Amino acid sequence: MAEQQQDEFMPAGAKRTKGRDAQRLNILIARAVAQAVKSTLGPKGMDKMIVDDMGDTIVSNDGATILSEMAIEHPVGKMMVEVAKTQDAEVGDGTTTAVVLAGTLMEKAEKLLDDSIHPSLIVNGYRQAAVEAKKYYEETAFDVSFSDKKTLRTIALTSMTGKAAESAEELSTLVVAAINNVADKQNGKLIVDQDNIKLEKKTGGSLKDTELISGILIDKEIVHTGMPRTIKDAKIALLDMALEISEPESDTKIEISTPDQLQAFIDREEKELKTMVEAVKKVGATVVITQKGIDDLAQHYLAKEGIVAVRRVKKSDMDALARATGANVITTIKELSKADLGNAGKVVERKVAGDAMVFVQECKNPKSVSILIRGGTEHIVDEAERALVDSIGAVSSSIKVGKVLVGAGSCEMEVSMRLRDYAKTVGGREQLAIESFAESLEIIPRTLAETAGMDPIDSLVTLRSKHSTKSGKYVGVNVHKGKIEDMKNAKVIEPLSVKTQAIDSASEVAEMILRIDDIILGSGKAAPQMPPGGMDMGGMGGMPGMM
Ligand code: ADP
Ligand code: MG
Repeated sequence: MAEQQQDEFMPAGAKRTKGRDAQRLNILIARAVAQAVKSTLGPKGMDKMIVDDMGDTIVSNDGATILSEMAIEHPVGKMMVEVAKTQDAEVGDGTTTAVVLAGTLMEKAEKLLDDSIHPSLIVNGYRQAAVEAKKYYEETAFDVSFSDKKTLRTIALTSMTGKAAESAEELSTLVVAAINNVADKQNGKLIVDQDNIKLEKKTGGSLKDTELISGILIDKEIVHTGMPRTIKDAKIALLDMALEISEPESDTKIEISTPDQLQAFIDREEKELKTMVEAVKKVGATVVITQKGIDDLAQHYLAKEGIVAVRRVKKSDMDALARATGANVITTIKELSKADLGNAGKVVERKVAGDAMVFVQECKNPKSVSILIRGGTEHIVDEAERALVDSIGAVSSSIKVGKVLVGAGSCEMEVSMRLRDYAKTVGGREQLAIESFAESLEIIPRTLAETAGMDPIDSLVTLRSKHSTKSGKYVGVNVHKGKIEDMKNAKVIEPLSVKTQAIDSASEVAEMILRIDDIILGSGKAAPQMPPGGMDMGGMGGMPGMM
């Protein structure tokens, strides 16, 4: 069948495909990409294993990750990957939803095209529908406040769905605590800069050992064995300079002809290092962390003073340390004063999976924190990281917008129904396009029902009838129970912005693809390849190199 389609739409070596053929081909590609991630949707979604040329594998349930790892060559395929990337960058979650929705919009558009409805009419209808849909999402949403930790935890949990399932509860608590630390008020608005939550991975232990550090974790060891391994109530100096003798200019010759001169030279070096250490001691620092090196002799002097030192720390870690401890980073030792020091309840070196790491923790009001992710294998740790990134994104978006929705296909169903009512008021051919948009939204509850092994048609019928009553507004698909029920009570809560962004991304790409009616190959390019197996690839469609 694949061969046939290929001949029909894009004969091998063809340089140009036009009109209906071009549209058909593009729609096919868009649907194939959506199909590749569809079965991962929701808590009962399946994982995909992606194997690259080198045999490296990734196992993931995350739409954006799967698509970015897949070798997709076709330009329309790439547009679909962009949808996932935009969704991820804008709101940090809902990537599968956006891509699946875009695929379904294309599928419905195909039917409209078959009924001889002009693409620009479809584009118009979709555009109106997107505006209305976002309005209905907003109307269906309810408020969430920063202090409502319980709801925020529910949001974290919902977005972690399908990933890191066994420890999702614990991880959600960590996410909310971390965000609580780093959230900042700017012009009266709460802002969460996700860069201020540092995720550090170490394979080993189990997911349950994953911990939040109210401060920063440095993947380095304390430089000298003679230094204490734990410092309480640490006063921390952050340096962007070496505690070393400045190298003489490369062409400077030092004439040393007698042993006395040599001794004098060494003495001078020692004195210089001693002065540096004294400057640190004088301001009362008990911990020195520098981005540069520390001379052996300087280490020795510091150890003698009981001062802990860590060297060659990354710039990004230095910035994070400054935010967590309140210290200023100093570039020349002469400038160092008491006011530049930061504070931490404890600085301790601990062995994690055999590597020494320095924990700068128990900071009072850290504006930057770390989460140390543990797990039995690299795959588990990586997937846990993706789960954390998603839920940090989801909770941040909820705080920023202050509005959330009931998930589990409930909000999609509600918006779909309202959109159908709206379509009737529009009339004409656009009505058909708006109705198609409304139907497309049903793909979310439908797919969730499928992943749970429920009958998709029965589920949709029940959902429609519930949503036609006032009390049915929050009814969705409980995939764990295999039941259609109120999902606000079942605590499946998602940020409004994830849903509105999905509408934006999906409708924009649909519009873009529908506007193309001519595919012309640039010079020197081979014809874009059809996915082998075309639309029949079903759940395992996500193999690399297929497009
Ligand atoms: P995405 O990449 O779109 O975020 P996910 O695999 O994370 O995809 O699935 C998100 C969907 O799963 C949302 O529609 C969300 O409402 C739904 N969902 C999450 N938790 C549950 C649950 N416990 N029961 C039913 N649906 C859920
Ligand atoms: Mg998600």
